[in-house]
Amino acid sequence: MPAKLTIAGFQGRKITLSTGLFINNKFVPSSTGQVLSVENPATGEQLGTISAAGPDDINSAVESAKAGFKTWRTVSGPTRARLLLKLADLLERDAEDLASLEAVDAGVLYTDSIGMNIPQAVGCLRYYAGWAGKIDGKTLEMDGGIAYTYREPLGICGAIVPWNAPLMITIWKLAPALVTGNVLVIKSSELSPLYALRLAELIKEAGFPPGVVSVVTGEGATAGQALSEHMDVRKIAFTGSAVAGRKILQAASRTNLKKVSLELGGKGPSIVFDDCDFENALLWTRIGITANNGQICAAGSRIYVQASIYDRFIEAYKNAAADVPTVAGNPLDPSTTKGPVVSRIQHEKILDFVRQGKQSGAKLLFGGDRIGDKGYFVQNTAFADVDEDATIMREEIFGPVASIAKFTTEEEVILKANDSHHGLSAAIFTNDVSRAHRVTEALESGQVTVNAWAMLSPNVPFGGVKESGFGRDMGEEALEGWTTVKAVKYNILPRL
Ligand code: NAD
Repeated sequence: MPAKLTIAGFQGRKITLSTGLFINNKFVPSSTGQVLSVENPATGEQLGTISAAGPDDINSAVESAKAGFKTWRTVSGPTRARLLLKLADLLERDAEDLASLEAVDAGVLYTDSIGMNIPQAVGCLRYYAGWAGKIDGKTLEMDGGIAYTYREPLGICGAIVPWNAPLMITIWKLAPALVTGNVLVIKSSELSPLYALRLAELIKEAGFPPGVVSVVTGEGATAGQALSEHMDVRKIAFTGSAVAGRKILQAASRTNLKKVSLELGGKGPSIVFDDCDFENALLWTRIGITANNGQICAAGSRIYVQASIYDRFIEAYKNAAADVPTVAGNPLDPSTTKGPVVSRIQHEKILDFVRQGKQSGAKLLFGGDRIGDKGYFVQNTAFADVDEDATIMREEIFGPVASIAKFTTEEEVILKANDSHHGLSAAIFTNDVSRAHRVTEALESGQVTVNAWAMLSPNVPFGGVKESGFGRDMGEEALEGWTTVKAVKYNILPRL
């Protein structure tokens, strides 16, 4: 039996976790004996160690999944729905523990996790439970016969997930994968693996048969790579960086041409027209880059403001930041409004971008420094008058750093917004309905939000275009990505 790890969560509650790999509905030690060290980014202190999977462990998980698939694909729609609904109830029951775990090893604010990420995950499970037994095919006429189609599961699939909203993103993949009859091996991020250990326990408690869901913790370059290369895995659903996404695509092309979906980064434009509700635009453009410290792929990190309101907007943006002081500290404390960024590397990366911003000639409106000398805290930072070619305008920072620039016409801002290799998420602020239609249509982006930033709902597809990736999480669209269509054709013999 792998050792237990005890974590102090919200209001000091003790959370005890198994530290092994969850394979065949049991926690087992890693075959390599290697461990991952889990750090609290608010303090830089080690929380403990957990198992790190190697290629042999991935093989074991896939073997268990093979057996699980035989059972799971025959399970009726109503039973699949019942188990997904049960898991949703268990996430709700254990929301305080799950939110605590996201806070202590990913630095996500407890209040954000319990108020948004966990309800989103629960809603996603309930939404897809509603699809069980309702995924139909077509009946088609053919010359001399008739055909029908139906959708089949792909089989053994993998989900490789990041650290920034780890439970929610895992459920975005788990719920549609299971409702369509697939089985899933989840590889959590090495930076936020603890939630996944509790999720594994809840999967067993919900009653999913062994092998339907496996949860492996481990490094991307070993466990993630082995899963991506596995000849029996039919799909990898990935959320994370473009670097890792390309490696997964290469692994798929080198091996069995498994299906891959990629949810990669973004450099989301937020476009503020002079006919907008000014206060609303001010609110959402601030939230869009400070929520979760800007560590959101859909972050509104490029803010374009129309020239006629630019000076007023800049002044108000600066004042709003000063008026609402940030309370940086322990993300478990409900009075904290700013947690740490996830790791030392992420901290250094963000501060390096800030240094480049300062050197670029852009005007630093506020922030621009670390907070304190313990843990990985970064000030909310905004630059104005940012040049289109500046690194902070072009590269994804994944930190609380806004780059603001002026535009004059609708045509100009569309060109600027689309001048990016990313295309994940955009926001526009206008009270002109015709303009809203024109601009949303012209933007090269997987989603556009009008008069808010990045609203989420389980029935609305989420994903990108261009180098932000392909495939969709959530919505009816995700179901297609987890199934393949089979056509059955009947030659209707003439009566002799
Ligand atoms: P990352 O790519 O480093 O890690 C993501 C996952 O991939 C982790 O589980 C990691 O272990 C695994 N991984 C790493 N190398 C791998 C490899 N060679 N083979 C297989 N798996 C591998 O990304 P991250 O640092 O965790 O997340 C930050 C990035 O993710 C940002 O670029 C962000 O924009 C993006 N992101 C995108 C979305 C989205 O929905 N589009 C959501 C969250 C994060």
